[in-house]
Amino acid sequence: MRQGTKSVGRGVLFRYPDYLPLTADTPRITLGEGDTPLVRSRFLEKEIGVGELYFKLEGCNPTGSFKDRGMVLAVAKALEAGSRAIICASTGNTSASAAAYGARCGIETLVIVPSGYVAMGKLAQAVVYGARIIPIEGNFDQALQLVRSLAAVHPVTLVNSVNPHRLEGQKTAAFEVVDALDDAPDYLFIPVGNAGNISAYWQGFQEYHKGGQAHRRPKMMGYQAAGAAPIVRGEEVRNPQTVATAIRIGKPASWAKAVAARDESGGAIDMVTDEEILQAYHSLARHEGVFGEPASAASVAGLMKYARNHREIGESRVVCIITGTGLKDTDTAVLGAAPAQPMAPDMKAVERALGWA
Ligand SMILES: *Cc1c(COP(=O)(O)O)cnc(C)c1O
Repeated sequence: MRQGTKSVGRGVLFRYPDYLPLTADTPRITLGEGDTPLVRSRFLEKEIGVGELYFKLEGCNPTGSFKDRGMVLAVAKALEAGSRAIICASTGNTSASAAAYGARCGIETLVIVPSGYVAMGKLAQAVVYGARIIPIEGNFDQALQLVRSLAAVHPVTLVNSVNPHRLEGQKTAAFEVVDALDDAPDYLFIPVGNAGNISAYWQGFQEYHKGGQAHRRPKMMGYQAAGAAPIVRGEEVRNPQTVATAIRIGKPASWAKAVAARDESGGAIDMVTDEEILQAYHSLARHEGVFGEPASAASVAGLMKYARNHREIGESRVVCIITGTGLKDTDTAVLGAAPAQPMAPDMKAVERALGWA
């Protein structure tokens, strides 16, 4: 049995052992996931008119998205069960995370990806970590159906968020928010794709509330992309489309849990257009110095939309989850930006280019 390396207080299995389904036989693995920054807004808080606005920077996780929080536990439990391989369907970040923890633990990682709809940075991660990648001519929902069937008959552990350990690990982000603010915020804005993360946060807030670490629970505000909004529309979307590839999902696996989180918290699940997502994406980067991927910006786009009709948010404490780093999807980042012509390495020429001469 592989021993976990000694860790100096980093990693969700080390920080929150009492809240996770760990046994003496669960390997304590980590790549340093969790403990991500919660930073106060310097611009959008006033611009939007929020009492207090914070961003939780989940792009600071080891593979650049929140998926690492759940993956570390899912892989630890797979190892504990004696599994030698893990499998997932992915819009990109799940495969990047699975491949990293698989590599770390010396087990095989198999990923099924919808061809043509995974951001290049995410695919690059899976390649470099050494995963076996099977592209399919189909979308995420079909890929998920496939891996569920494969895992049912082959000796591989499914590590999509239908694996309950994923949500158990991901709920630790809610603990961190409460630990940082000394209580739960009034509202939590979060992108919704397969709907695992909103469900995990709600589980975390509820556990902390029951345990007395939080006196209240936030309204859970989930945002889907308008072209991939099955929960908002109340029916499966067969051909989901959005620039925010991480939430390009037409049939969320945790649909019922997300609806329960919405209703129990008195929150809402709504949608934002790609235009609104990209506007929030640029605003976040230019005015806050926060570069999230397009899906991550759905939380901020959602807040902008909600605040237009709900002025009471001006008295509230709000957290937006920035679920992944923008570096994974540089195609979207440089879209429409014309590359400048290089010029002579000459002071006069550069001064002219800057409009200083
Ligand atoms: C996975 C992911 C989402 C969506 O989370 P779900 O749990 O599928 O709802 C949003 N943003 C990023 C960056 C992701 O990787």
